[in-house]
Amino acid sequence: MPIESLNPYSGRVERRFRAFGWAKTARIVAQAHQAFAQWRTTSFDHRARLMRRAAELLRERQQELAELMAREMGKPVTDGRAEAVKCALCCDYYADHAEQFLADEQIKTDAQHSFIAHEPIGIVLAVMPWNFPFWQVVRFAAPALMAGNVGLLKHASNVPQCALALEKIFHDAGFPPATFRTLLVGSEVVEKLIEDDRVRAVTLTGSEPAGAAVAAAAGRQIKKTVLELGGSDAFIVLADADVALAAKTAAQARMINAGQSCIAAKRFIIEKLVLKEFISQMKTHLLAFRTGDPLDPATQYGPLARADLADELTQQVGDSVKQGAKVELYGGQSKPGTALFRPVMLSQVKPGQRAYSEEFFGPVAIILEAKDADDAIRLANDSRFGLGGSIWTRDAARGQALARRVEAGAVFVNSLVKSSPEMPFGGVKKSGYGRELSHLGIREFVNQKSIWVA
Ligand code: NDP
Repeated sequence: MPIESLNPYSGRVERRFRAFGWAKTARIVAQAHQAFAQWRTTSFDHRARLMRRAAELLRERQQELAELMAREMGKPVTDGRAEAVKCALCCDYYADHAEQFLADEQIKTDAQHSFIAHEPIGIVLAVMPWNFPFWQVVRFAAPALMAGNVGLLKHASNVPQCALALEKIFHDAGFPPATFRTLLVGSEVVEKLIEDDRVRAVTLTGSEPAGAAVAAAAGRQIKKTVLELGGSDAFIVLADADVALAAKTAAQARMINAGQSCIAAKRFIIEKLVLKEFISQMKTHLLAFRTGDPLDPATQYGPLARADLADELTQQVGDSVKQGAKVELYGGQSKPGTALFRPVMLSQVKPGQRAYSEEFFGPVAIILEAKDADDAIRLANDSRFGLGGSIWTRDAARGQALARRVEAGAVFVNSLVKSSPEMPFGGVKKSGYGRELSHLGIREFVNQKSIWVA
């Protein structure tokens, strides 16, 4: 893929970038490696001061960053500003807690003194996607830098300006330049980077094929990976739920980032008794979402990030309908090769249809009918993915018990699934492995060293 900013709303290429050659890339790796030797010796207080400054800059520059996202991948500016502010929260969170999360952990043994120390490992390579161009990166970068690691970012090829803007924020905040660098390189360079001994680990957020390729390359080099891949989250509505609130939230959960979110609700599993009511109410809410220019603060959803993603979604919807799904609401593309995709709702979704088994990365609501709560859990778990899930019932204790039965990295009762700095984030099954955020996220890329004093 060319490294360029192609505005999906206007269809115009706004900026093209020449990919870094290997010599330049190798020079940056060497600088990062050198910087690590010094950076790892800095105090938590020092790192936290810089990280809090990065948070301030994210807040100060939120409008500028939101406009970049709007231009490069079509996110409405209102959502873009919220993303920048959420990134700032994450920076502050790790500035406040990293030292405590990585403190020595005393262990009782027959030694005089034994404990676990948490030490940085060196260069962590991040291969990141375009859907939340700042948030996906910050949730890796803030804990990595606070732990004393250094980061190299290979961002998606369609968001180079976002990648450079984030690099600038860390540099302007005072981080030594080589501790966080953006590499303007294509995905074909990733394996070569992984083969370099100085690169110690890789984190990837993106599609299954990208995750599998990177994990295989890292496996050959005995390097750890954290993978945050796709999802087809279940949104279960039981007959005793507040259906009006569930339907309203369902529409929001499906429309996050024009449906291009790994934790967007994708499969709506509704108990038979309330199915009709739910479909009718969710449809009304979906129709109320306003589309328009992502630069207009009134816009609620913009185009998909690239026209090819909209073409693929149209194909998935078309195939599902041929396979027997019923169209409850049809928006979709106005013509092939364009990025705008209006909300679609499919019901009567059954095994054997693409809508039953695949991730739909855009505003398509897939409705499945459940006989009862047990059937809803069975349907939720009949998926290759296991990222998040949501359960709606007026009986919170029942919701909590059912939440334990959903095969997913996170289940929310009477709420949509969202990420926050305090809670671990990640999946099971084909949604990946490892955890980001919280105390678990910062411990993924440290040497958990046992020290034993006899
Ligand atoms: P990709 O997974 O292809 O891209 C994500 C990142 O991985 C990009 O930086 C990309 O680089 C890189 N990459 C891709 N292939 C390889 C490879 N073989 N080796 C190393 N790096 C690689 O996502 P797409 O943009 O193609 O989106 C396709 C689908 O991926 C979506 O429809 C959705 O299902 C899923 N996806 C999931 C996301 C999530 O949040 N979990 C986010 C984005 C997409 P480059 O851009 O240069 O190709």
